[in-house]
Amino acid sequence: MDRIRPWQLWLVVVAVCALLRCVGQLLGWPFLGYETAYMTITCTTPIIIVAGILINRPARPAGWIALAVGQVCYAVADMLYSFDLWSTGTMTEPTPSDVLYLSSSALTGIAVITFIRRRTPGWDLATGLDALVVAISASLLSWEFFIKPVAGDSDLTMSAKLTEAAYPILDLMLLILAIRLVLRSGGRSPALRLLLGYLLLMFGADTAYAIVGLLGGANTTEPFTGATWIVSLGLLAAAALHPAMRDFDSRSQVAAPDATPARLTLLTCAVLMVPGLQFGENLAGRTVNIPLTSAACAVMFLLVLARMAALVAAQRRAADTDGLTGVRNRRYFEEALVTECRRAARAGYRIGLVMIDIDHFKRINDTYGHPGGDRVLRELAQRLAAGARAGATFARYGGEEFIALIPHITAGELPALAERTRKAIADLPVEVTDQTLITVTASIGAASAPGPLAEPTELLRAADEALYAAKSAGRNRAVLAPEVHAPAPTRN
Ligand code: GH3
Ligand code: MG
Ligand code: MG
Repeated sequence: MDRIRPWQLWLVVVAVCALLRCVGQLLGWPFLGYETAYMTITCTTPIIIVAGILINRPARPAGWIALAVGQVCYAVADMLYSFDLWSTGTMTEPTPSDVLYLSSSALTGIAVITFIRRRTPGWDLATGLDALVVAISASLLSWEFFIKPVAGDSDLTMSAKLTEAAYPILDLMLLILAIRLVLRSGGRSPALRLLLGYLLLMFGADTAYAIVGLLGGANTTEPFTGATWIVSLGLLAAAALHPAMRDFDSRSQVAAPDATPARLTLLTCAVLMVPGLQFGENLAGRTVNIPLTSAACAVMFLLVLARMAALVAAQRRAADTDGLTGVRNRRYFEEALVTECRRAARAGYRIGLVMIDIDHFKRINDTYGHPGGDRVLRELAQRLAAGARAGATFARYGGEEFIALIPHITAGELPALAERTRKAIADLPVEVTDQTLITVTASIGAASAPGPLAEPTELLRAADEALYAAKSAGRNRAVLAPEVHAPAPTRN
């Protein structure tokens, strides 16, 4: 049988404490009796996180340290709060425990942002837009049910209102960060799942506690929310103890999965929430803030439209891109050729075409295998694309053929450009495997048209013939085709 791991043992302790906390209060134990079970977990959580950092030694502990400090704040806040409850319960807001609870949430937020930035650096527009849609929807709910009642309560002082409003706002921020953490790419390690479990349970318990508080009356749900808080803290500490925490935030090369069913479901719920809220409030005979809900709807519609536009643009980019090399593909090139020929005919400038075919490419495949050949194609494509003239369109035209379309070229520039392209390939060896560099050569056919053409394919045919001539003449050379002219109009 497998040895029980520290994080599993810890979860057993957490489960026992959660049970004692819940059952103790239900059975009418004295306050200190069941509260001890709760305080045991709150006070040991920061210690367990520090132990996790020391045992697992993550390369970048900043996020975990922020979590540990946040949990120290949380534990001290709990102690002060329990003392307040046990003694008088008459402290005015913000009490020292409020300040510490809020600081703990802020530190947790900072930690999660650190993890998100580490896992997938840079901007991911799609995920940003999705998170914004969910944020607006959740903010409106939060405003309607938690912040508005507090703001309108004339019994509360201003600082008490601000304190009470800060809780749902910070909780909401943590929920959004949790969503952002799962929506972005990166591995789904056990440490990530435990951390998410913590964030979601904490949000759920805080929200339930706030709702029960708003409904007033005897807090019969307290044993359950108390136990849920214990479990959520337990999951956080278990995440730190789990060996997977070491690299759970390691950088991901995988693109974020976009428009997955889960993501679409989440977005649908978020978008439908506002009309649902209006409808529900209307049924209940309450008034809703129409300008606010309308504005929220409008902004969400615009965000969804922006998301659609981004998706369409991404699809288009994918349709124009060669999968192996990442440069433009033949389909894109042929469209660009037609457009450019038309524009050149109107504006009266010369366009040039350079066709490149790698010499004896079959031999590379035969010697180093298909993956070796692919590697050569990728490197040469990147090299040629990077060296292409501004305004030129460079594409992979076929298996080991590349092509460049150069507008505004002069007759004198074309041979020099073709020769430069040949040298760019032949003069710099290519890595075909990690250990092997080989010299690759290519034959080049170049053609240009000074004026309007009957068909853009005339230019292609001329370049292809020049390429064939370069191959026949012994390869590794550039051949220039005669100028391509439109056939003179025939008179009947
Ligand atoms: P030549 O000098 O006459 O051009 O000789 P060649 O060997 O390059 O001849 P050819 O152009 O007929 O052969 C092209 C080879 O390119 C054949 C095909 O197996 C290979 N090829 C086509 N697409 C790919 C690809 O995506 N990856 C790899 N590795 N090879 C490819
Ligand atoms: Mg070929
Ligand atoms: Mg070839």
